[in-house]
Amino acid sequence: MLSSASNRALTFTLQFSSSLKFSPKTNIQCRPRRLHRSIMSSGSRSSPREADLNDTGCGGAITLEEWQGWGCVSPVPAMVNAVIQDLKLLENNTDAHMVFGGIGGKLQGDFKVQEDKKHRAKYQSLGDSNKKFQFFSARQIACRLLGSRGYLCQKCWLPTEDCMCSQVKPCSLWHGIRFWLYMHPKDFLRQNNTGKLLWQVFGVQAATLCLYGISEDEELMWNAFKDAGRDKVWCLYPNQNMVPKTVQDAFTGQSSADTECTYSLTSGDKPLNFVLIDGTWSNSAAMFRRLKEQAKLVWGEEDLPCISLATGASAMHKLRPQPSWDRTCTAAAAIGVLSELQLLPECSIHGLDKQADAVEDALVVLLEALTTRRLRMGRSITRKVRHSRDIC
Ligand SMILES: [Zn+2]
Repeated sequence: MLSSASNRALTFTLQFSSSLKFSPKTNIQCRPRRLHRSIMSSGSRSSPREADLNDTGCGGAITLEEWQGWGCVSPVPAMVNAVIQDLKLLENNTDAHMVFGGIGGKLQGDFKVQEDKKHRAKYQSLGDSNKKFQFFSARQIACRLLGSRGYLCQKCWLPTEDCMCSQVKPCSLWHGIRFWLYMHPKDFLRQNNTGKLLWQVFGVQAATLCLYGISEDEELMWNAFKDAGRDKVWCLYPNQNMVPKTVQDAFTGQSSADTECTYSLTSGDKPLNFVLIDGTWSNSAAMFRRLKEQAKLVWGEEDLPCISLATGASAMHKLRPQPSWDRTCTAAAAIGVLSELQLLPECSIHGLDKQADAVEDALVVLLEALTTRRLRMGRSITRKVRHSRDIC
């Protein structure tokens, strides 16, 4: 069930399944933490700044070191560097300088006007819709990279003066699980993105970024899925075509009539892959569609197994007293998966509750960093959320 108030892909169903509700193993404790929704609306607004195309030693192109420094694990996307090269050419051929600023670090000024014309023409010239889409993604990523270079900390995506890295405590994720952050380019390098916390805490091999529309990233993710096998891939998304499974349905088969399909978490040596769609609710439908299309190419069936979290208002409310935050945040979705798996007898020995706590601690650190920044910049921390795209 989707909450109409929520704009994020990872909304949680509101019913606690009865067996979980009364499980003696439930040990979710009340933690009196307050996470204010409005703080997370502190976007990436900043003063205008010129792109630094000369500090990489290779004409502004993204090196592998820089690319992976931002949290990516793939090779440098060829199309991203092609876009950067075009931007640099345009700058050389005009008097306008490449200036970034405002919310989301977008191009500004005269250069933006000229670049707009150029990229629209390029977009039109691409015949294939998939190519158009990949160009759109690569351009977004390239602009965000250039606008953030030398300004944001590569690890935490906060302005360097607000870097929170020293306060994040790393934690090992149980090797039986791997998270994939399938991220929309518009969420890449966003200060208030929470998906990034997962690889800050667990490392990039346990929680891996995959940028939507970047073929190098998508290929890497799908190769891992092929390797793991179809029964080891779950998308955390309320699939409208069928009744979504809860973690308990999916992994214990207790409520499944077809016991032959019962999945054992401990089978095989490949981890269970959870895809978390990291984008706004309006973008997530297209992102899920692309996942389904790719599933069809790989496995011949469009259906991508989906789960929804049973951990709804009640449990999350106990965890944190601000459910509006809980239900709309990518990191909280990961916390939900870990917390629900922890309740399964076969998972109880893997310390997933501690791993969920580690993500929650990082969330609190991020919230505090964003609050400090807003206060320092003289902005209200209680302003009304002007648009609903506030946290992710
Ligand atoms: Zn940092």
